[in-house]
Amino acid sequence: MPRTLFVTTALPYANGSFHIGHIMEYIQADIWVRAMRMAGHTVHFVGADDTHGAPIMLKAEAEGITPQQLVARIAGERPQYLNGFHIAFDHWHSTDSPENVELSQDIYRQLRAANLIETREIEQFFDPVKGMFLPDRYIKGECPKCHAKDQYGDSCEVCGAVYAPTDLVDPYSTLTKARPILKKSDHFFFKLSDPRCVEFLQEWTTGANAQGSKRLQTEVLAKTREWLGNGDGQANLGDWDISRDAPYFGIEIPDAPGKYFYVWLDAPIGYLASLKAYCNKIGLDFNALIDPASTTEQVHFIGKDIVYFHALFWPATLKFSGRKVPDQLNVHGFITVSGEKMSKSRGTGISPLRYLELGMNAEWMRYYIAAKLNARVEDIDFNPDDFVARVNSDLVGKYVNIASRAANFISKYFDGELGYSGDAPKLSAHWQSATDAIQADIEAREFGRAIREIMAHADQINQAFDAAQPWLIAKTLAQADAAQRAALQHICSSALAGFKALSVMLSPILPVLSQRVATELFGLTRNFVWSDAGVLPTRINAFKHLMQRVEPTMLDALFEAPAAELASDVTPALVPGGEPIADIITIDDFVKIDLRVARIVNCEHVEGSTKLLRLTLDVGEGRHRNVFSGIKSAYEPAQLIGRLTALVANLAPRKMKFGVSEGMVLAASHADDKTDAGIYLLDPASGAHPGMRIR
Ligand SMILES: [Zn+2]
Repeated sequence: MPRTLFVTTALPYANGSFHIGHIMEYIQADIWVRAMRMAGHTVHFVGADDTHGAPIMLKAEAEGITPQQLVARIAGERPQYLNGFHIAFDHWHSTDSPENVELSQDIYRQLRAANLIETREIEQFFDPVKGMFLPDRYIKGECPKCHAKDQYGDSCEVCGAVYAPTDLVDPYSTLTKARPILKKSDHFFFKLSDPRCVEFLQEWTTGANAQGSKRLQTEVLAKTREWLGNGDGQANLGDWDISRDAPYFGIEIPDAPGKYFYVWLDAPIGYLASLKAYCNKIGLDFNALIDPASTTEQVHFIGKDIVYFHALFWPATLKFSGRKVPDQLNVHGFITVSGEKMSKSRGTGISPLRYLELGMNAEWMRYYIAAKLNARVEDIDFNPDDFVARVNSDLVGKYVNIASRAANFISKYFDGELGYSGDAPKLSAHWQSATDAIQADIEAREFGRAIREIMAHADQINQAFDAAQPWLIAKTLAQADAAQRAALQHICSSALAGFKALSVMLSPILPVLSQRVATELFGLTRNFVWSDAGVLPTRINAFKHLMQRVEPTMLDALFEAPAAELASDVTPALVPGGEPIADIITIDDFVKIDLRVARIVNCEHVEGSTKLLRLTLDVGEGRHRNVFSGIKSAYEPAQLIGRLTALVANLAPRKMKFGVSEGMVLAASHADDKTDAGIYLLDPASGAHPGMRIR
């Protein structure tokens, strides 16, 4: 039975570029969507930018632009990532859109009509200088337990204590450094503790969808038990504060001047807004798709950090506003890199854009991510050595290799005609049933298992080919009889029939490569569908090279610290038109940094690096230091030799691909290295000499 599906990924917050975690989620969802389409199902696959809330408002203000301008800039970056990794959303929208305003306000009115909205007066910290209520993340102060300074409003990073912002000793606003005052305000609450919500969520979280599969994975279901109890009516659900006071970048609450929806209220509604905009674009009936009686399946791919919003608030919001509820949540874990959590400041993150800019094949990444993913909520690790091994040994060495080995014999001796002298129906049935199993794995999101099975099939094909030694037959083909010719044709044809089936299996994961195989090699005029696997090919076109191996040096370049790393993430502060000022440090913090005057005694290009120059520095120590600096875009080596500059002299030496860097020279730059504002090396005034301390 053909199904209709409405599939989304979590909406990325539009205050920054995509990172590898976003790309992982999109690849997971895109593979699944492609697999469903190959089975003949209709899928509407949409995404959007999540645009509202205080962080975007404050970041835009710090840059001296409007939130809309900030959001538009980020939205403008999205296509190069999505197209680059072959992530084929049908539509990409924004929560700052007319569709979302209308839907959010409608949903709110319907929840209000259902008596699920309540107004309560709450007391909150307010920044009197900035004139706004402060989200917890913008309040710092002294820990009430251990008295560590500069701790966040919700917990202490030193002793681990958890508390309310009002418990902080000497609290201050990180926006203005002003002491916040307590101020009362009316807030709107969604009554999640209402017995109707609790009862519905008990049913929804534990139930199955129309396909008979569980809406939630086992781990996610277990998590919801912590909030909903075990069906004994003892739920632990708090009501949800869905309003924020002006100034706020968001959607106005109807009949409540100066009140806005909290960003998490309107963000998931953005799924519907994007679907609605898409329906309008192509002439589909949006309301029919989201009607409670609709058979359209609603499937969300999300990360484990936002389960609370998607397993409780979102289904309840939909249910009690009279809409269709989600059919399935597909929750994934985080991605680590070489076992470490991503961190821009440590430089261990992988920039997806850099990956593409280096000319690395997006399908290597899709294959690698797929090989790591399963249907459980597990973290996965990007390991560079493992990446090289899987792509080179498995994908290229086992799979692509089959075609390059077998196709040449067929082209050379049989003019592209395939022939099977064995039991062809059996071969056909074998490949269709093997492919059906892979289809089931992928639909169940067991991508890693699917790839293991695919590679086991590739091994079998290669082993059978090797055992038959077709090259020996080919060598004496001029004198060979018809039986020997038929044997050679059969060996190569069987390998190619297997290669075709493997290409069908890999289609959702490698959409570009598989399409080339379908059209260029097998002469199809369309993409593969699952049922193509059992159709034995009868002829091929000349084999064209399909895929390069990864050069391990590409991975080194991928991990090279970019120049932009000089500027780390900072809490937004108010510097109109410039980069926000970092959090306050004490003089004790500052004196830990040993800055010295250094003379650049030599400077040269670094072979293989697009960003770095190698500096040889005299810091008055009786020896020279080697320092790599990401200033190549701004300086020619000859310009720098003989100049003085400033060096962080006690920075831990850092091992890089090109050698050890013993410190860091100081340069001024814009935080965003895509601007062409330039990089300016610092210069002590003349008279300073190497080794002098800068303080
Ligand atoms: Zn503490």
